[in-house]
Amino acid sequence: MANNIPFRVGNGFDVHAVAEGLPMWLGGVRIDSPVGFVAHSDGDVAIHALCDAILGALALGDIGKHFPDNDPAWKGIDSKQLLARVAEMARSEGWEVANADITIALQAPKIGPYVPQMRTTLASVLGISPDRVSVKATTTERLGFVGRAEGCAVWATALLASQA
Ligand code: MG
Repeated sequence: MANNIPFRVGNGFDVHAVAEGLPMWLGGVRIDSPVGFVAHSDGDVAIHALCDAILGALALGDIGKHFPDNDPAWKGIDSKQLLARVAEMARSEGWEVANADITIALQAPKIGPYVPQMRTTLASVLGISPDRVSVKATTTERLGFVGRAEGCAVWATALLASQA
């Protein structure tokens, strides 16, 4: 049994529906948009997927287990606080985030201009340099619920490295 391999990888996936009149938070950044994400928290679907990737690498369950959406403590919470807590869980288990890669599927608005700010924001919360955080934006060519602009889907991968 190779229990001393100094790396752990995890993946995360999340979807939120959009609705008019809500603020849109994505990748820790406020996006100028007529719609935002329906959620118990601030609805930052990119951070939620990233949290799940890190929790997956730790084999510590998922974001719903740690921050239940029926718990008033997390109502409307800034998802950056959830990511900070998850990063702290990793550190307390002896791991640090080596890098993360996030793919955001959203039909509108165009989020490409926000990507650099997302990278620096997420890296800052994780305590790592922005060159270790990748954010990629895509549409789904008008196919499916993303293509109909009904919601946003995000996939994230995180690699953890042992602090030892
Ligand atoms: Mg979510």
